[in-house]
Amino acid sequence: MVRVRFAPSPTGPLHIGGVRTALYDYLLAKQQGGKFILRIEDTDQKRYVEGAEQYVIDSLRWMGIEPDEGPGIGGDYGPYRQSERSELYQKYVQQLLDQGHAYYAFDTSEELDAMRTRKEAEGVVSQKYDASIRLEMKNSLSLSKEKVQQYLDKNENVTVRMKITPGEVISFRDIVRDKVEFRSEELDDKIIMKASGLPTYHMANVVDDKHMEISHVIRGEEWLSSTAHHVLLYRALGWEDHIPQFAHIPLLLKPVGKGKLGKRDGAKFGFPVFPKNWDAGEEVYEGLAEYGILPEAAMNFLAFLGWNPGTDQEILSEAELVKQFSLERVNKSGARFDIEKGKWYNQQYIISKSDEDLAELIMPMVHKAGYEPSPEFLSSFCRLMKERVELLPEFLSHGRFFFERPTVYDDKTAKKKYKTENHEHFLAIQNLVEGLDDFSGENIQAAVKEYIQSNELSFGAILPILRIVVTGTMQGPDIFETMALLGKSETADRISAGLTYISQL
Ligand code: GLU
Repeated sequence: MVRVRFAPSPTGPLHIGGVRTALYDYLLAKQQGGKFILRIEDTDQKRYVEGAEQYVIDSLRWMGIEPDEGPGIGGDYGPYRQSERSELYQKYVQQLLDQGHAYYAFDTSEELDAMRTRKEAEGVVSQKYDASIRLEMKNSLSLSKEKVQQYLDKNENVTVRMKITPGEVISFRDIVRDKVEFRSEELDDKIIMKASGLPTYHMANVVDDKHMEISHVIRGEEWLSSTAHHVLLYRALGWEDHIPQFAHIPLLLKPVGKGKLGKRDGAKFGFPVFPKNWDAGEEVYEGLAEYGILPEAAMNFLAFLGWNPGTDQEILSEAELVKQFSLERVNKSGARFDIEKGKWYNQQYIISKSDEDLAELIMPMVHKAGYEPSPEFLSSFCRLMKERVELLPEFLSHGRFFFERPTVYDDKTAKKKYKTENHEHFLAIQNLVEGLDDFSGENIQAAVKEYIQSNELSFGAILPILRIVVTGTMQGPDIFETMALLGKSETADRISAGLTYISQL
């Protein structure tokens, strides 16, 4: 049974890289008929941020990812918040202590600092808390039984550390990186239980992955070295046969290609690196959703950041992603977060949507801007505009002239193209347009073109001006279709008002 978990720590808004991890979890679970579990790793009370858990749930929901088990959802392996599972961790910490795989340590942070300074002065390259120095420190391996008991009774600074034995090779297979090997001398005696009595990430993570019967651990490559500690914990707990399969996925890199994509990079580069807006008080981090990326485009885009199906196909629906996804095809090297590619995906998904669906999607935005078009008008508007936008808000910013008359005109082009001797022809065209019974784009086009030809005018002298007077700009969809949608009297009024303006430039 494939059981995968997404295990965010609620220490702030979920970064886009986290959403990609969750997506890979989800795709694998769906493909294998398994379960996708959300587990909240909230043992670090100091870094706990209110609202971060809900943000994870909302963000995943926005992209259409619903966990099968998790906080507020339920499941047979709960509770799904680590803060509610303390007793379980304590039990196993005790087992490790009893069996000699772990020991108490009482060093204060000042003492730890002093040790590092001392080692540095002695020219020791690594100042890890490990077998080489553990007997110089204050712990249950170096102190007498009585002294240890005294410290325990005082209950100050009581931590528990893993006892790592030098000379061991820890090797495991990672689906993305194949064989990974660490030597135990490279590892420090990690704290597994803090002075607060709460477990650290390592302890809680291993205990939960075992208890929740997790089959695959998919996470960012920054966790690769922790995995060595985790493997040792599995061994020490007697769970060697339950070690999940690991897949450490590549980092997301800055758009420039170098360096890890950071949470501040959104503001720096002017695009979102979060799934949804996050209000951090002094600033709001922008989300892909609010930026105008469709959830299905986000899914496709994120899936391809570090993975590809091995064919030329780039547009894959959720169903196709589920079918084709494989951890074996995840790249080892970092994936550049290229928002331009994201926009390209978005454009493809916008184009493939029906006009009616798009109209429904942008209706709230249009209302907010103060316009009240009919659904039919908005659908036709979407039909004309959809090939011209990459982000949803661009429907409005690029197509505002459909909702209100232009207040500014492209003066530069107008000046260049407008010739006084053509003025009467523009008025004639206005008249002609007003007289049409069938005000379809096709019919307007036929009439105008016929007028231009029979009066031996050039298209270049007439059409740009016609476009500018009606829309204010040279950019936009087919001008005759635009006129048709605006309607006869609105078009005529715009021609007249625009001509008056342009003739005075
Ligand atoms: N709580 C860890 C995080 O915040 C989970 C890492 C893992 O998946 O093991 O990323």
